[in-house]
Amino acid sequence: MPECIFCKIAKGEIPAEKIYEDKDFLAFLDIMPSSKGHTLVIPKRHFQTIEDIPENELKGLIAAVKKVATAVMKATNSPGANIFQNNSEFAGQIVPHIHFHIIPRNKDDKVSISVSHIEYESGEISAYSERIRKALL
Ligand code: AMP
Ligand code: ZN
Repeated sequence: MPECIFCKIAKGEIPAEKIYEDKDFLAFLDIMPSSKGHTLVIPKRHFQTIEDIPENELKGLIAAVKKVATAVMKATNSPGANIFQNNSEFAGQIVPHIHFHIIPRNKDDKVSISVSHIEYESGEISAYSERIRKALL
């Protein structure tokens, strides 16, 4: 299987506009940004999803996201940011190497990120909470 594009960026085999790097994590600018400064933060090791990455590595990744997001917002004069991760192709993940998006946001910007809403049938919300609580056991 050809190696994934973010593994290649992590190894320096293809170029990226890097903004943060340490032993385990890397942040670089998204080449097709939703807003200027849109940044991706990845672990250098390859994992596809949040289920795959070991908890300790995920803790490090989210700490890097916090550090980088703070800098991205400061550098772009943005009072806010959308920070998210598309977990699997079913959730819109195109690059199968776990990454967090940091999209700086400003009043009246043209960024469109929408979460649709549906309704539970009567009693269904309790059934879902019960199912999920059981899955945690
Ligand atoms: P996702 O849909 O969550 O997998 O998002 C993948 C993101 O990676 C998209 O926003 C792409 O624009 C971005 N992307 C793909 N290839 C590259 C690359 N070579 N350098 C920087 N960003 C990339
Ligand atoms: Zn990879």
